[in-house]
Amino acid sequence: MADAQWGNCKGCRFFASTSASPEDREVHNCNHPKLRPFELEVSGASGCNVYEARTSPKDTYEEPAPSVQ
Ligand code: SF4
Repeated sequence: MADAQWGNCKGCRFFASTSASPEDREVHNCNHPKLRPFELEVSGASGCNVYEARTSPKDTYEEPAPSVQ
């Protein structure tokens, strides 16, 4: 989250859409690690200041697997 900046959810890697090009009217959860506990449902036209742009259509955030120690 080094270069956090405002942007729309439809272009953000934390938007839980499986679409290669999410649209404004889609509604999905936000998977940002700090926002996920709030179970936010956001539209593609929503946005916030911890937006991180997708670097490719398949660049969506996945929760890291828990480590076993
Ligand atoms: S609320 Fe913010 S972090 Fe979550 S999908 Fe939208 S822009 Fe990304």
